[in-house]
Amino acid sequence: MKKALLCTAMLLILSGCGTSAPESPAPAPTASAPAAAEQTTAADRETVFQVSLLQGLTLGDYYGSVTVKQLKEKGDTGIGTFEGVNGELIMLDGEVYRAKEDGSVEIAPDDETIPFSNVTFFDADTTEEISGITNINDLKTYLNDKVAEFGKNRFYMIRIDGSFKKVSARSELKQEEPYKTLAEALSTDQREFDFDEAKGTVVGLYCPEYMNDLNAVGWHFHFVSEDKQNGGHVLDLDIDNAEVKWDNTDGFNMLLPETQMFPELDLTQDQSADIKKVETNE
Ligand SMILES: [Zn+2]
Repeated sequence: MKKALLCTAMLLILSGCGTSAPESPAPAPTASAPAAAEQTTAADRETVFQVSLLQGLTLGDYYGSVTVKQLKEKGDTGIGTFEGVNGELIMLDGEVYRAKEDGSVEIAPDDETIPFSNVTFFDADTTEEISGITNINDLKTYLNDKVAEFGKNRFYMIRIDGSFKKVSARSELKQEEPYKTLAEALSTDQREFDFDEAKGTVVGLYCPEYMNDLNAVGWHFHFVSEDKQNGGHVLDLDIDNAEVKWDNTDGFNMLLPETQMFPELDLTQDQSADIKKVETNE
């Protein structure tokens, strides 16, 4: 457990787009520079890095502001989407996958850009076996009981590796300019599919309640199959048996994008109804 060593204060870093954010003082130069991976500090590993606000994406700001390559410098596990909402993003074990509108999966190219994402470096703090959780609401109840135990005011990234009787998921068609709001786009361009008897991984993010203006609070899950052939944004699931690993994450680092839309967005409006709709189909 590394959490005791870390500051529990929110770390909010605002920075220009397309450049790596200055998260911590650069280490003093040495004669032989360490590899990039070795420069990742313990604090970086326990930080959720967020590109933009979900509330910008939901207003239709689908312009990418960081590349897949840059996102990989901020974590190895996470969720998000691509420029133009061109599929659902799943980052797992350092690779970035796109779940397309037909539920098939491909590796995303390093130069593709990303309008919204949350990633972290995954270090398991807790591991538990689960079985017989037959729907997403039961999963959320189980996970929320754990959050109450572990502490409700930090972020958690989880991965659920195992066998699923069913995963119901969605992705969407790539959008063209001028971009509509996400609720409008999904009302016509969302595609849903079921994966039966699937092996794979659900990547889940928990955002605490005070994140209401910056993201969706509670849980958000994306799935990718073990063979990396299928995936999407999880709408429902039936878990046969699986292992849940929790990464307790006490830092938060948000990059404000410099897209053409972002400076003009009214981010004060209450979008909670739209966000519930795009997250859960309800
Ligand atoms: Zn999603």
